[in-house]
Amino acid sequence: MHSEHLMNTYGRQPVTFAKGEGVWLTDTAGDRYLDALSGVAVNGLGHAHPKFVAALNAQIAKLIHVSNIYQIAEQSALADKLADLSGMDNVFFCNSGCEANEAAIKLARLYAHNKGIDHPEIIVMDQSFHGRTMATLSATGNRKVQAGFEPLVSGFVRVPFDDLDAVRAVASRNNHVVAILVEPVQGEGGIHIPADMKAYFQGLREICDANGWLLILDEVQSGIARTGTWFAFQHTGILPDVMTLAKGLGSGVPIGACVARGIAAETFTLGKHGSTFGGNPLATAAGLATLDIIAEEKLLENAEDTGNYIRQLFAQAFKDTPAVINVRNAGMMIGIELDRPCAELVKQALAAKLLINVTSERVVRLLPPLIMNKQEAEELVHRLAPLILNFIKASA
Ligand SMILES: *Cc1c(COP(=O)(O)O)cnc(C)c1O
Repeated sequence: MHSEHLMNTYGRQPVTFAKGEGVWLTDTAGDRYLDALSGVAVNGLGHAHPKFVAALNAQIAKLIHVSNIYQIAEQSALADKLADLSGMDNVFFCNSGCEANEAAIKLARLYAHNKGIDHPEIIVMDQSFHGRTMATLSATGNRKVQAGFEPLVSGFVRVPFDDLDAVRAVASRNNHVVAILVEPVQGEGGIHIPADMKAYFQGLREICDANGWLLILDEVQSGIARTGTWFAFQHTGILPDVMTLAKGLGSGVPIGACVARGIAAETFTLGKHGSTFGGNPLATAAGLATLDIIAEEKLLENAEDTGNYIRQLFAQAFKDTPAVINVRNAGMMIGIELDRPCAELVKQALAAKLLINVTSERVVRLLPPLIMNKQEAEELVHRLAPLILNFIKASA
């Protein structure tokens, strides 16, 4: 269902989906597809989850939107819930991942100005992705995202990911730095998991504490049970000062959140930030229902178990295939790294009625719904492994 009247910003696959159920999507011709991408880490509950549909229907019948000029019961309840699950203090709600990161960047700058630092800088990482607004594309570690949009927003210092010494070197020479912005697991960049996640984030925490910097974690993709804990930082034993959320939080209803702790939670004061839609009753009811269903259906455990199972099945399938460099996962963030560009696999998978993504040119990225069971996981591997093996043979 193509239109000439859409701006040409996406390379779209030639398929239109009419409905979904669980991990399956049905197109307008009636063909069923196995969804191993979840709308890019959004539909953690799969499609048309009955409890989620009922919760949204009930909310729509009551109230969709009121202004943040008023108290909003669902927003308050979701803030309490997020604070409880994360050990953080306060939440600002917005509508997307880039907006959550914009809020975090503004917060870090205000924190700096409050300390008398007039030209604050934020350390960001190579291969990172933080969004497409001017500040967040400037923070992003991918030239393709930035090219054509100069002048970029200044105030970012870039270092390699998973390299504590590089951060220490900046600390020793630069006294404008006020924060580090980092994804616990880099998603768009190609499913990069720190070699020792605990040591890396404990090291970053120590550097931040020693220098009075804020540790800001972009959990837009890794949060909301995706890696088998509510938030990926919960694998590391530390708490950030700021965490951003979006993708999985509303199961498809747009919502973002900037969650903060301690001094960072008190930095935004009256009038310093705002959003018309942010935290409206519909979006926050969707967030509450999402978190309730994840807990009720033990989806943290399922994300960890099924994610590991999928990695093991692929590792087995590719054990004699040197062109597959590595299969890695943090729960349901799964990457299969090849030794060659493999964007064509997306189209081939679509023809095999399977939805996947390729990022960073040669990493097959899988972000299955958190509800995926073992049998569906086997079906995923059964469809995808032969495609990858044939692709490697054909492109040798
Ligand atoms: C997707 C993503 C964003 C941007 O989110 P949008 O909702 O598209 O603005 C930011 N950070 C990370 C880590 C992401 O994966």
